[in-house]
Amino acid sequence: MTPSQYTPEEPISSIATALAPAALGIVRTSGKDCIELVSKVFSRPKALLEAGGNTLVYGWIVDKADSNDDGHKIDEVMLAVYKGPKSFTGEDMVEIFCHGGPAVVTAIQNLMLKIGFRQANRGEYTFRAYINGKTDLTRAEAVKEIIDSHTDASRSHAAGRLSGSLFAEIDSIKKLIIDTLASIEVEIEYPEDEETIADTFDRKDIELAISRLQSLVDSWKGEKLYQDGARVVLAGRTNAGKSSLFNAILKEERAIVSDIEGTTRDWLESWASINGIPVRLFDTAGLRETEDVVEAQGVQISRNLAQDADVVLYLVDGREGLNEEDREFIEKCTEPLIVVYTKADLASGKTFPSVTISSKTGSGMAELYEKIIAVITAGVSTERQQAGLGSARQKEAVAEALECVKHALVSADDNYTLDAVVQDLEDAIDFLGEVTGDVTPDDVLGSIFANFCVGK
Ligand code: GDP
Repeated sequence: MTPSQYTPEEPISSIATALAPAALGIVRTSGKDCIELVSKVFSRPKALLEAGGNTLVYGWIVDKADSNDDGHKIDEVMLAVYKGPKSFTGEDMVEIFCHGGPAVVTAIQNLMLKIGFRQANRGEYTFRAYINGKTDLTRAEAVKEIIDSHTDASRSHAAGRLSGSLFAEIDSIKKLIIDTLASIEVEIEYPEDEETIADTFDRKDIELAISRLQSLVDSWKGEKLYQDGARVVLAGRTNAGKSSLFNAILKEERAIVSDIEGTTRDWLESWASINGIPVRLFDTAGLRETEDVVEAQGVQISRNLAQDADVVLYLVDGREGLNEEDREFIEKCTEPLIVVYTKADLASGKTFPSVTISSKTGSGMAELYEKIIAVITAGVSTERQQAGLGSARQKEAVAEALECVKHALVSADDNYTLDAVVQDLEDAIDFLGEVTGDVTPDDVLGSIFANFCVGK
């Protein structure tokens, strides 16, 4: 979506909930005349047309064009009515709360298309909210982020941005820069005999802006980890206990645990939370020489997965210890690797220089989690800050703004012209404007909203 693709006259609709059996489903509509349009297929049109904003109206969705005299009843619903500008998009909206079966929501959405709505594009509701000044770009991006969150900690970081923490921080940094620009403008209008250009403004403001921009840039690595998660791959010989550990971390019986070698021939993956950090966990086929073609492929896939891992947990049966095959894998592995000795409950008395766990009793798991976190957060600040960045796009723009402000300070210290300093500071404001969406090129907007889901 870009501003040139924005068609405010056009009523849009889409299914806003997952297509799966559920108690409730929602079909969302927005745009000019959307209330009148829905009233044409509603059992109580007058009640809907007379409803105030932010109210609920009970009735049935009916296909009045259906041959049946009463109108073909589709579902019993509640309509949430919003009157622009007091709505998510800033336009008139009706949200249809129906039963959550895929057939129900699809029938209602198809009816909406039949009566004149257009299928909404990805992120079109949020895009309209942004265009209509209901949200800035940091909050719009946080909408997608909160939907995509894999752990509660990720959700909480996204919620901070959704409630405007990043917008407020950027706005306050902008104010420091604008105050400085104002002092310089005064100097340009009414020159006094300042010793240096740096004397014309409060240096502390600019230094503060630099340190706050730097904190924002530094926050990105940690925030990215909370969004994308880390890839943790379980590898090791067959029967080392990989599937058991996979299940123990997920706290559910996902993988088949068996003594029969070669049970996991493919790989399994699932999201898990390790101390709040989202982790994509992979259970791979056991490493062993095999004649079985399918299993051999699985073994090759395990090796490939290990190559893309942020950390490999290499499992070794604690009763047996390392053998040649293990040593070879560990030596060849180029990614960070933690050797995990398993079945501690059976291998009593044996201790190893690495971590020793039992998936059965849970012993050693807390220590294992700490070790995993230490590897995946190496060099990353995961401490919760007042405001953190929510996307690579934001990080690039803030880093540019930081460079401009730093350059302005150097120019002032070197006593360049006032114009040079002004130019740097104005550039910084523009970059910060890109983050919040005051000035954002069309193609950037297009790529932001293209990643949204339909209905949001
Ligand atoms: P994989 O082939 O590496 O995935 O190994 P599995 O997880 O399927 O485990 C192989 C066998 O070891 C199964 O019989 C498991 O029940 C057993 N096992 C795995 N972890 C433990 C553990 O911590 N304690 C005990 N006692 N048995 C375990």
